[in-house]
Amino acid sequence: MSGAARALLAELTQLGAAIDACGGTLKLRAPEPLSPDLLERVRAAKPEILAALSAPAAADIERAAIIEHDAGYSADIADRHAREGWRAEDWRAWLSETAARRRRIGDDHGEASRFAYGAAISEWHARHGARRVPGRCPGCERPIDERARVLALPGGERVHGVPCLVRYGARWRSAAADGLAGLGISAPTGRAP
Ligand SMILES: [Zn+2]
Repeated sequence: MSGAARALLAELTQLGAAIDACGGTLKLRAPEPLSPDLLERVRAAKPEILAALSAPAAADIERAAIIEHDAGYSADIADRHAREGWRAEDWRAWLSETAARRRRIGDDHGEASRFAYGAAISEWHARHGARRVPGRCPGCERPIDERARVLALPGGERVHGVPCLVRYGARWRSAAADGLAGLGISAPTGRAP
């Protein structure tokens, strides 16, 4: 399965969507309407997804492996996430496993907690962050001229320059912190706001 199809399945799982092969078609059930962009990607990846779903057991293992690989936590939690999506207690388990891994490589308790929280911020953003608007700078939200000099970020976003980069970073981190706070997870003490 291609990386794009894996990412797509992980994204659908995270949204609580269930996808089944029904004859030669895909049956998609989701708690909320899916975006046109996402549906288009499902359509494009249909042959690949159908092929993967024709071996359901293998597909489940693969889905769990993807999530485990992405997040680096234990297989049983990854397996449950593959089926059910992330809940507050899953985030807590993820945080404590991430912190435990850091303590094993020598971080003290505070360092490990701060590292885990920072990783959770990035993870939350990857899962729930605002979708990129093509042709628009996520820093200042003004249009971006692809031919002009822009800063290309690892996630594929393009910003006008460092001030827009800083603005964008502050915005998504704050959105992620709010998202985690909504699940009852707050920043560890000693962490710069
Ligand atoms: Zn900008």
